[in-house]
Amino acid sequence: MEATASLVQTIRAELQAAKRILIVSHIRPDGDAVGSLVGLGLSLMAAGKQVQMVLSDGVPANFRSLAGSELVRKRALGTFDYRIVVDASDLARVGRGLEGQPVVDLNIDHHVTNELFGRRNLVLGDAAATAEILARYLPAFGLPITTQIANALLTGIVTDTIGFRTANVTPDVLRIAAGLIENGAALADVYYAALVQRSYEAARFWGEGLRRLQIEDGIVWTSLTLADRNACGYPGRDDADLINVLSAIEGAEIAVIFVEQSAERVKISWRRCGEAETDADVSAIALQFGGGGHRAAAGADVDGTLEIVQEQILEATHSFLKQARLERVIPIT
Ligand code: 5GP
Ligand code: MN
Repeated sequence: MEATASLVQTIRAELQAAKRILIVSHIRPDGDAVGSLVGLGLSLMAAGKQVQMVLSDGVPANFRSLAGSELVRKRALGTFDYRIVVDASDLARVGRGLEGQPVVDLNIDHHVTNELFGRRNLVLGDAAATAEILARYLPAFGLPITTQIANALLTGIVTDTIGFRTANVTPDVLRIAAGLIENGAALADVYYAALVQRSYEAARFWGEGLRRLQIEDGIVWTSLTLADRNACGYPGRDDADLINVLSAIEGAEIAVIFVEQSAERVKISWRRCGEAETDADVSAIALQFGGGGHRAAAGADVDGTLEIVQEQILEATHSFLKQARLERVIPIT
């Protein structure tokens, strides 16, 4: 998929005219949210713009080594003449980052479930990461990719592809990543910081989740409670990427993780597993529960206690998988 030449020209002209730019991304930010935000922010600053970068949950510890991440704020301050959202499929995902802003001028994203909420929408559903879209189009917008920008964008690509392991990694994705390395990005360092290194607290948090791991009829799942988080001293509201471990478990088709957010709210992540025989689109089930995402990775926030939400979601996921199995095209040999 490609953006039309006229959309690229329009965005280029609007960015060149803008003076005070606000950029925001989603709650519980991942590497693509941080990398896209910081990469675009630094690039616009290098072009002489006043830029504010906002993440309502702040920058997670494992991305704080990225140059430029120290400039990210939790709330927007002041007035802006241009507002950009990166890597968020709907406005609820942005949290409080857009509070008080009248419109979104530019929406840059790669989620198939994107609601096209911007005045301009640069949404390419087959891109592996929002950072890939930025790496591809920044030069066309007349914006630079310095070493720091290349490191931020490569962080987005490396994390959303789980280290180039997802099925949407095409030769083009690798060429774009190679281009970022030519621009000065340090692949080994980015890879280690974003995907390999874990805090001691995160490792203990994983332990709590792994103790409760269960598998039944192709679905592997576990939960992480507020009590686990407190006991381990894990500071984030996310699953510390434990879902990546679950989705590699032999014999599983779909992995699900439940992360208790409060007594009345649960964050759910779904992944299609590495060995899945169906090509079940897990974003469809996330959408049913008010969330969204990609075919192989999706999430939702659901109201209710952990126990009740877990029961509902597991039941729905089992029937969803059953249906996907019925619809699976079996090749005739
Ligand atoms: P994760 O499970 O790692 O939070 O997210 C997997 C994918 O689904 C990501 O691309 C993420 O942006 C998307 N996603 C996660 N939670 C939500 C949600 O509540 N709403 C929407 N629209 N997308 C979500
Ligand atoms: Mn992304």
